[in-house]
Amino acid sequence: MRTALFLPLFLLPLAQSGAQQNAAQTNKVLTPEDLFRRNVGTREQQYAQFPPHKIVGNLYYVGTEALSAFLISTPDGLILINSAYEGVVPVIRKSVEQLGFKFTDIKILLGSHAHADHMEGDALVKELTGAQVMAMAEDVPALEAMRPGGKPHPIDRVLHDGDTVTLGGTTLIAHLTPGHTRGCTSWELRVPEGGKIYDVVIIGSIGVNAGYKLVNNPQVPQIADEYRRSFELLRSLKCDIPLGSHPAMYHMQEKYAKLGKGPNPFIDPEGYKTEIDINEAAFNLRYNEQKKAAGE
Ligand SMILES: [Zn+2]
Repeated sequence: MRTALFLPLFLLPLAQSGAQQNAAQTNKVLTPEDLFRRNVGTREQQYAQFPPHKIVGNLYYVGTEALSAFLISTPDGLILINSAYEGVVPVIRKSVEQLGFKFTDIKILLGSHAHADHMEGDALVKELTGAQVMAMAEDVPALEAMRPGGKPHPIDRVLHDGDTVTLGGTTLIAHLTPGHTRGCTSWELRVPEGGKIYDVVIIGSIGVNAGYKLVNNPQVPQIADEYRRSFELLRSLKCDIPLGSHPAMYHMQEKYAKLGKGPNPFIDPEGYKTEIDINEAAFNLRYNEQKKAAGE
């Protein structure tokens, strides 16, 4: 690290590896706004196709530059996690087809949480594929209010914390990780590849959006406890391959650039812990600010 001191200053940003940047980030507390901006990107990035690719085994990325969508292929059909904005559905469809799959083979549609950038497209995906749409019970009211073009939000199965979803030999566990939304869901699955089994966790979100009231919240008095429960629960999961509802949550672009040039770059257990840590630090920052402002 000391050698960096001798580099001309203008070279420093180029000389830093992604890992060093991540390490540097953990030293300074990122604010909820820093993380929000990092995650959501620009409108252009939200709609721009990212090259679809295999993550591990039967798990693929079919989302955009800023909004994640994951595809699981099984002998009995496909599972799609996240439909994103309704306008992103054609982009996801294109990615699914470029990987050689049929969009109409999607049998199950799951989601990260009841915000439009992850689940607004559910009705359109259901219309195009007939997939069974499954959602966490605590998110159902928010999903029912999500009606692009007046279309009611389809929900075929209501899930509860710890429920499993199985298709063609692949099982996902739905973990309730609330705070960001009441029914925010983190998905856990085990993916075999080359004689090994990889633990994958798709973090639903543990971010604090602008305007979130963590202290004296009349609608959700327990919101701070929800977040704390989520940090604790996520930390308790074994994770080899961290993923998230936004690709920046697992530094997809940097990892994708390393694909095929060595070990699978998506294997990153340390990155998983770091992501939880920086979100918890941002939560605590905002919580303490609001506590102080409330005179407590
Ligand atoms: Zn969200």
